[in-house]
Amino acid sequence: MSTNYYLIKNPCPCCGKGEANLHIGSSSSGWAFALRVNEFDKSPKNIHEWHTEIFNENNKIIDEYDNAITPNNLWALIDKPNPGTLRHIEHYQVTADPKLSYDLVSYEFS
Ligand SMILES: [Zn+2]
Repeated sequence: MSTNYYLIKNPCPCCGKGEANLHIGSSSSGWAFALRVNEFDKSPKNIHEWHTEIFNENNKIIDEYDNAITPNNLWALIDKPNPGTLRHIEHYQVTADPKLSYDLVSYEFS
C-alpha cells in the first residue's frame, strides 16, 4: 500500500489552484521512497531541487487524498535515518543507491 505526494507550486489564496502540480513520488512502508525526478519536464531534477521546492513556504504539499502534509513530515519519509529495505531496482530508469533511503525514478508513475 503506497501513498503518492504532490507539490502545488504557488497556490492561489482564493481557489487553491497552483502554477503547477508536481508528483513528488510515493511512500510505502518497508520501501525506499520513490522520488520522481526528471531532466526534461518541470519536475525537480534531483534531491537538492526537491528539498528547495518542498521547503519553499509558497508551495503546498498534499497526499493523494488531498490531506496537507508539512515539509518536515514529508522529508522524514524521504530522507530516513535508516535506508528502506526494499528498492525499486526491478524497474528501468531507477537510480537506487543502497546508502540512501530514496530511489530516484525518472519516469512518471503512480
Ligand atoms: Zn484563484
